[in-house]
This record gives sequence, C-alpha cells and structure tokens, in this order.
Amino acid sequence: MKLSRVTQALYNELAELTIVDAHEHLPPEKAYLSYQYSGANFFAGYIRNDLVSAGLPVEFKNTMRDPGYKDVSEWWPQIAPYWERVKEGSHARAAIITARELYGIEEINDRTINRLADAIIADNTSGLYTRILSERCKARVVLTCVERTDFQDDPLFRVVAPIDVSGTTADSFERLGESTGIRINTLDDLVDASIHRLYQLKETKVVVGFKTKSFYRFEPDEGEANALFKRIRAGQRVIKPFHLRDYLFDKLAGAVADLDMPIAVHAGVWGDFRELDPKYTIDLAIRYPDVHFDLFHLGMPMVRDAAIIGKNFPNVSLNLCWCPVVSQRLTVNVLNEILDLVPLNKIIAFGADYRCVVQKAVGHLVMAREVVASVLGERIESGEITEERALEIGKMWFHDNASEIYKV
Ligand SMILES: [Zn+2]
Repeated sequence: MKLSRVTQALYNELAELTIVDAHEHLPPEKAYLSYQYSGANFFAGYIRNDLVSAGLPVEFKNTMRDPGYKDVSEWWPQIAPYWERVKEGSHARAAIITARELYGIEEINDRTINRLADAIIADNTSGLYTRILSERCKARVVLTCVERTDFQDDPLFRVVAPIDVSGTTADSFERLGESTGIRINTLDDLVDASIHRLYQLKETKVVVGFKTKSFYRFEPDEGEANALFKRIRAGQRVIKPFHLRDYLFDKLAGAVADLDMPIAVHAGVWGDFRELDPKYTIDLAIRYPDVHFDLFHLGMPMVRDAAIIGKNFPNVSLNLCWCPVVSQRLTVNVLNEILDLVPLNKIIAFGADYRCVVQKAVGHLVMAREVVASVLGERIESGEITEERALEIGKMWFHDNASEIYKV
C-alpha cells in the first residue's frame, strides 16, 4: 500500500510495538519442524484458494498442505499459470512481502522460485518460531487454535481450544469418558464429562479460551438431544446431530461463564458463508451475557453487521485476524467505519491465522500495520487525533486488548 508521509511515520512507530498474535493454527514447534514444510506449502494458506478460484484443479490444491520435501519441478509448473492471475490479491501479497522481507526476493517468478524454495527449507531448524514470531514480529504471546496442549517447549504460545466436543460417534463418547474419568451412559453423563473437559483444559494453564463458529443454533431441547444421544450410543450413524450439539453448547457456555474465559467465534468467508453469518453471534451475546465472545474475521463479507454487533453488545469484541490477507482494502474501509462505531477496547488488529508456513506471519503483519496506520493516519491528517493518540490506539489494538480479553 502506498502510505503518505504521516501514515508512514505512524507505521514506523507501530512497527516498534510488542504485539499479541491473536490467532494462529500452529502446532508446537517440534511437531511443525517434523513436517518439513517446503516451497509448495508457501502457497497453501490461503493462496491455494485463490488459485483454485482462478482455475487450478482442486485435486492439486488438496495436496498443497501435505508435509515433506517436494522438488520445485513437482509443484511450481502447476501453480505458475494461476499465480499470474492471483498475485495482485491480498492472499498473495502476504507471501510477496514475506519473500522480500525475509529473503530479499523482490518478485516470485520462474527465476526466483528455486531460491525461495531453498530458503524456506533452510529455515526449518529449531528456533524458527522464536526467529519469526518473537524477533521479527515482536510477539509476546501467540494464541493458537489447535486440539492439543503440549506446548511445554513453546512458552510463547497459549491455546484457544475447540469448545464443541466432536462427539458424533459412540467411540468419541468412549474417548471423552476415558480422558475425563466419567463413564458416559446417559446424556447427563455426557454433559458432565464435556464440562469436566473444559475444567481440565483450563487447569493446563496453556488453554486461555475456547472456539466455536457463528452458525444457526437450535433452541436447547433435552428431549431431542437425548433421542440423538441414544441413537449414537447404540452405534447408529447420525450425520448431523445438531440438537445434541446445540444442547451441549448451551451447557458448556454456562461452564465457560463460570471459568471466566472468552469464546472465539469464527464467522464468514469460507464456502457457503451464509451458514457462517456473524448475525448468529447476536443469539450468543444475548443468551450468555456473562461470556465474552471474540468475533473473528469481521464475518467477511458481512463486515458492517459485525461492526454493529461489536458496537451493540458489551460482551462482543471484534478480532481482525485474517482480514488484511482476505482483502486489505476492505479491511481499511471497514476499520475506518469501526473507528466511528465501536469503542477502542473492543478491537484486536492482528492474528496471522496460518498453519503453514509460519514465515508468512511477517508479511501479514506488515499488511495489518499498513491497515491500522492508514486508518489512524488519515485521522491525524484531518486533524481529528494527534500522533500520540494514534499510537495509543495502535497499542490497544495490537497488544493490550487481546492481552486483556484472553488474560495473557
Ligand atoms: Zn483460523
């Protein structure tokens, strides 16, 4: 993005700030390094979706997150024609900035792709997370959404764990029973074990929040939930046990209120985004006033709905994780409106949202800083706020708000 003199000066100040990276999908570093990600993975999250949209065969796309070394000749010829169609987009831009900032590669093309691929492989050594996330990005804490808690060697990390128990088979009830020590014979047992699991997760001290999605939920109905529970326990395959899922969530949300932990809520973007409408979070905000909901991605493209939800409900914050790399300009435009609408303590500016490769957090953070600098810089130029005030706001958005909401 082209920044004005004032905006560039603010950008430079923002770049000095310690941050909280408020959303990733990264495993512990040891596990990450064991996957030996190579150049093809650089185009996985999220460029591959644009590549498919541009015509890349979906079968090839589905291999792009696969771990392990792959020679450039195996993947670049497949990607290259579609790369030309997407490289001006925001997903690609994070990669382009990363290649430039980390490896001095100005343009990703046939001439530079081998150098880029070699550099990514060479990075796969112990300390990668520290080098990228602590040193480059200045992250004090990284919040990662994964179903594991073995981060004892990664003190930088805290986990936001899925709240929805993946309990759609008799086997999964069995596993939950084993891990919690509660035999699951009845629906009440399932509720007890599911709640116990949340307490166990909190006790790890690694887990600082839970995560769900903004989808339609049925009114909690014990009769319907019990009927589904019995069918599943009898070994029947139930494809969409929504009444059971929603009944359980209702009980779990009560427990989360007692635990005083936030619930992150994914909204928007993917596939049939009508099913991930941020407006479903209104039901959550009203029904569970004692739970804090951190609404993700501004529910893109329903960004104005998300903004007003953030405005109207004291227990909803807006987490702009992923937004700058979905559309940087959309994020600039709506953040400008959000600044009009939403209290400053309700906004989190950055979460890189990658599982591989972690290096792209660098490019994503540049884009997030550009977004914030351009929105606040415009207000400095119009005389509405001072540079000092802009920096204060930037500090809240990049660090303090996430720190307070997730108590990290
Ligand atoms: Zn995510």
